[in-house]
Amino acid sequence: MPASQTSLDTLSPAPKSKTPQLVPPRTTPSTPLHILAGWKRTLPEVDVQWISRALFKDTSYGSFDEQRIDKLWWYPPQLRLSNNIKSGVDRYFAHALLLWMTRRLWKVRLVCPYPSCHDRELVSAGIHPRVRQVLDVSSFYLIASEDLQCTRCKRKVVSWSHNIVEQLDIGHRVQFPCLLTGRNSCDMRIVRLLRNRG
Ligand SMILES: [Zn+2]
Repeated sequence: MPASQTSLDTLSPAPKSKTPQLVPPRTTPSTPLHILAGWKRTLPEVDVQWISRALFKDTSYGSFDEQRIDKLWWYPPQLRLSNNIKSGVDRYFAHALLLWMTRRLWKVRLVCPYPSCHDRELVSAGIHPRVRQVLDVSSFYLIASEDLQCTRCKRKVVSWSHNIVEQLDIGHRVQFPCLLTGRNSCDMRIVRLLRNRG
């Protein structure tokens, strides 16, 4: 079953885990961070630095680097195992990031989901300003996306919306792994576990 959602633009904060969690230390990066303000607000603190380095240009304005979008999943730097090199403790707590920007990554044609627009094509309208946390079986992962805009009605929609994901062919659609609602975000493995419990 493909992932589904209940609204076109789901912006509610991610759920809090009810299981006890270790509290990661606060990090104090030594170099200025280049990242969207909305991402910085909505990312866990331990993920801001590595995502900034992975996806944003090292310039004074720090814009998102579209040229680097060549895969869906991004992972924090690996721990260093040498005794002579100390890894930052934040690496033990960092999360994977799903960069769901299908129009940019796969160059697929996506259309406005509103019937009155008669399949008018959507164009990119920038990086979605918020990142969501998705509950998985053992931890969280992060999902970031892009905004799309209809050239007719001018309405915007996030590319992780159900009405956009369902436009993809099955090979691409099954790579969307989570269920996003207005309030909650969880991986489909969680959904299947709950279903199996009846
Ligand atoms: Zn439209």
